[in-house]
Amino acid sequence: MKCGTYKVEITPREEFGNMYIAGYATMEAPLVEGLHDPIYVRSLVLDDDKERIVLISVECVGLLQDFISLVKADLVGLGLKKSRIFVFSTHTHAGPDTMGLWGPLIGKSGINSRYMLFLRHQIIQSVEQTLQSLRSVDIYFGSKSIKELIVNFRLENLVEDTLNLIQFKEGDEIIGTLWTFPAQPEITTRENVQISGDYPGLVSMKIEQSMGGVALFSLGLCGSQTPIYVEQGYDKMEILANEVFAGLQRISKNLCNIESNKIEIRERHVDLPLENDDFSLLNTLGIFNLRMVKENVIRSSIGKIRIGNLHLLTIPGEPFPGLINPLLEKYTDHHFIIMSHVNDSVGYFIPRKEWNLDPVQFLKPETKENFVGHEMESMGLAASDAIQEAIRDILKYKTIMAVSPHADDITIFSGGLLAKLTDEGNKLICVRITDDYGDSVGLTPEKTINRNRKEAEKAYAILGAEKTIHLDYPSDTLYTADYEILREIFVKLIRIHKPDVVVTFDVAPLYEENPDHIITARVVNDACWQASFDSYYRHHFKEGLEIHTVGERYLFAENLNPQVINFHLDITDVIDTKINAVSQHQTVMKNWFHQRKLLARANNLRVDLLEEDIPNPIRVNILVRAYYGEIGASFGAKYGEVFRKLDAGFLHDLGEPI
Ligand SMILES: [Zn+2]
Repeated sequence: MKCGTYKVEITPREEFGNMYIAGYATMEAPLVEGLHDPIYVRSLVLDDDKERIVLISVECVGLLQDFISLVKADLVGLGLKKSRIFVFSTHTHAGPDTMGLWGPLIGKSGINSRYMLFLRHQIIQSVEQTLQSLRSVDIYFGSKSIKELIVNFRLENLVEDTLNLIQFKEGDEIIGTLWTFPAQPEITTRENVQISGDYPGLVSMKIEQSMGGVALFSLGLCGSQTPIYVEQGYDKMEILANEVFAGLQRISKNLCNIESNKIEIRERHVDLPLENDDFSLLNTLGIFNLRMVKENVIRSSIGKIRIGNLHLLTIPGEPFPGLINPLLEKYTDHHFIIMSHVNDSVGYFIPRKEWNLDPVQFLKPETKENFVGHEMESMGLAASDAIQEAIRDILKYKTIMAVSPHADDITIFSGGLLAKLTDEGNKLICVRITDDYGDSVGLTPEKTINRNRKEAEKAYAILGAEKTIHLDYPSDTLYTADYEILREIFVKLIRIHKPDVVVTFDVAPLYEENPDHIITARVVNDACWQASFDSYYRHHFKEGLEIHTVGERYLFAENLNPQVINFHLDITDVIDTKINAVSQHQTVMKNWFHQRKLLARANNLRVDLLEEDIPNPIRVNILVRAYYGEIGASFGAKYGEVFRKLDAGFLHDLGEPI
């Protein structure tokens, strides 16, 4: 694993002119006057040879997706993938207004656009330097509860108080630190006009001075969580920073090595319904520039970065502990690190149980009167539900069973889907029904069987398969094979391997002429529901097997009926993996091109691409790109695959998530 870090100062400069200070609602809208401590952007790159991610911690109040997408577009120029870039603000309440909310009057943005341009430039600068400083590292992790420094001012007994420390070391030398704490950086007073990173800025500097490297802060599960010295000013900030730093020092003496050299990334788009009229108004006024996918729905995303049993969960706003913690309880062997304000800052996510629009008096010491709190700074309850649903999904690891009658079917029709699923750490089992004894040019059946078997295994391994099961039926004979026996084989395989997802041929494609494809579709889909009947194949239960229900199916075909296509997958990220996998089926592909050449000849045609002097890898490359480029173009992706996806269907509307 390689790691690099860098930091660049982002303190506003005089030449930018007036800047509004951001963080608290006040009548005056104070301008920045002076500096308490400099603010920075800090970046950290991790690279495991396959994946490269960049974490960017910005000392400001919040950043919206429109700005972050500009930053991401800039960083693509440095060879980074957008989905591997995580930009998060520390949420200091003493930085410049980077969201527009703290301007001179309602309807006027407090953003200084010269500063935003400068900020973008500094972020690129920081990442560029980071990429030049990659070194081999080991990763260490530790955490600790620090109850005495933090208050949940809505629910006294529900304090989330975890202080997390991840360190990246080359030998004994610390290259980088990522630390998180869930107390909002709001120790500066409401009258403060000086720039400061608040307590996280001070702590990061202490880490850098005494331990070395660059120390990135990410705000944890921060909804309604405040430091004990909330709004008490700089002296108290110094005290809190010392105490947090002391906590980190104690943790650093007892770190455990994360023995993994692999980064696994998961990302889920989340469509967040916007129910808050104030936010809508701000958007209409042009102060916010929220990305709407349809009327009053904002598309944002959550992410998960996994290294060994360390799971960093990224959330685009400020989640309440009560919204997230219950979802994590059953994963007892995972270390979770929650990062808020990542890739967007869209307000609070409040759980249903705590939602309350009646004015109440909170535990926060300085607010004596009753008022409606966080609900006014939240998109609404539906957004919280959407975040929870996405988190449930991102946490779940699945077993996928992909069934191919012939060696190349699953690679060609679903290679992109399977590569994406295994990239996310899901388990793939491939079942190949026939032996492909005839699929070659000029080889004996024995040689053909051997080669196709080996080539299929290579191809499936490239797609991430853990296991391949060959059923060795003679090819192109499934139509006359005993259906009952074949179905039992699949019911049993499903009961043994318990797949959450099955990928295979669709039952009713248009113009399917290959009988093996038709029988495979029939028998596998049949077995999917029969496997969960306790009266079918009862002798399996005596062998210790149990019924099993397949939750999802992705069905493909050469001519999938357009009316049943309901799942469009952008496979641009994995197109090279797909091409590489398809290229492994050398024997089958050679025959495929040969057969097309014969068909061309039978029609008095010569197709240059099919002539033997063009090497197969090039032909495969052109073919896959052309075919899956056309499918992708049908829904706006560079390369795409389409499926009929079956899952709970109408039960989604009736049920409650569990
Ligand atoms: Zn086939």
